[in-house]
Amino acid sequence: MNKIEHIGIAVKDLSEASKVYTQLLGYEPYKTETVESEGVTTMFFKTGDSKIELLEADNDESPIAKFIDKRGEGIHHIAFAVDNIKEEVIRLKKEGFRILNEEPKRGADNKWVVFLHPKSANGVLVELCEEINNNDK
Ligand code: ZN
Repeated sequence: MNKIEHIGIAVKDLSEASKVYTQLLGYEPYKTETVESEGVTTMFFKTGDSKIELLEADNDESPIAKFIDKRGEGIHHIAFAVDNIKEEVIRLKKEGFRILNEEPKRGADNKWVVFLHPKSANGVLVELCEEINNNDK
């Protein structure tokens, strides 16, 4: 695994949270993107080599809605950049980690993403992400 690619933060209201994080960081987010398959709208801020991803639920079935119901707003996941997501999945499975989606899916910000079950990582939802190469199908 490479660096921490981003930290995902579940928020109730993206426009309110965006004001807070713009004040906190001192600059504006660089993109907003809806991921329909996950029922979320995301907003990204660059923080040096890493990013902050704010996530707002688009509907009650969204994993973010369920997370906020249970635990309130806060850190939702930590994402690590990997060079080859499929190889990492194989490696982590061998190590005994529980993979939530073995087949990488398209996430926000042009990434293939795989999630590990929080029970596998001391209560932290871990995301692996690999930049989508334009040659990929
Ligand atoms: Zn993420």
